[in-house]
Amino acid sequence: MFVVLLGLPGAGKGTQAARLKKDLGLAHVTTGDLFRQNIAAETELGRKAKPYYDAGELVPNDLTIGMLLERIHQPDCASGCMFDGYPRNMEQTVALDQALAAAGKQIDRVVYVEVAEDELVRRLSGRWLCPRCAAIYHDLSAPPAKAGVCDKCGSELTQRSDDKPDIVRNRLKVNIENMQSLLDHYAGQDKLTTVDGGRDPEAVAADLRKALEG
Ligand code: ADP
Ligand code: ZN
Repeated sequence: MFVVLLGLPGAGKGTQAARLKKDLGLAHVTTGDLFRQNIAAETELGRKAKPYYDAGELVPNDLTIGMLLERIHQPDCASGCMFDGYPRNMEQTVALDQALAAAGKQIDRVVYVEVAEDELVRRLSGRWLCPRCAAIYHDLSAPPAKAGVCDKCGSELTQRSDDKPDIVRNRLKVNIENMQSLLDHYAGQDKLTTVDGGRDPEAVAADLRKALEG
């Protein structure tokens, strides 16, 4: 099964994808993580992507699509995977449809995790991550016991470079502009289900499972 998870930045796709990966055993293909890995390792791709990433802009399609195609040809994607953070515009959507079609495959289901814009800004601006154990905290909804320190392993918490308020607004703007055409595309193919992402993660996960099983 090939699944696309759509959602604006902060919609909770990452949390849900990690859960589904466990429940359904689907490989998780997330372009944001692939860019972060390339930037951290200072690869050629990472060097080219970094200025866009840092500004909260989309990385150009040629770089993004090339990276995505390489990823989906890995063996763990042979019989299916879950796309998270891709596609983000029509050119990426068409490239993915074509690559799958060339292998006799197709996107089976698309789930849009819908969250109001105010809530997205609130969620993204207070997010803190543990660089050591990957725990996620939030100033409002899940603060650590001691500010700036991981409850689980004691490491100093960090903020993603693109979670600063100005950059957050830009990430949202860029993604809102493109989202409607993606929704229209997949709705036109009768593959789209929308779930209300404004609720607690358990409730969202239950709806997602229903959408993917039904
Ligand atoms: P966000 O929640 O902001 O979408 P991600 O981790 O998914 O966070 O992506 C972070 C950044 O990586 C984006 O702001 C963009 O610069 C780049 N990026 C990720 N996926 C894509 C994509 N499909 N096309 C272009 N750029 C992307
Ligand atoms: Zn930790």
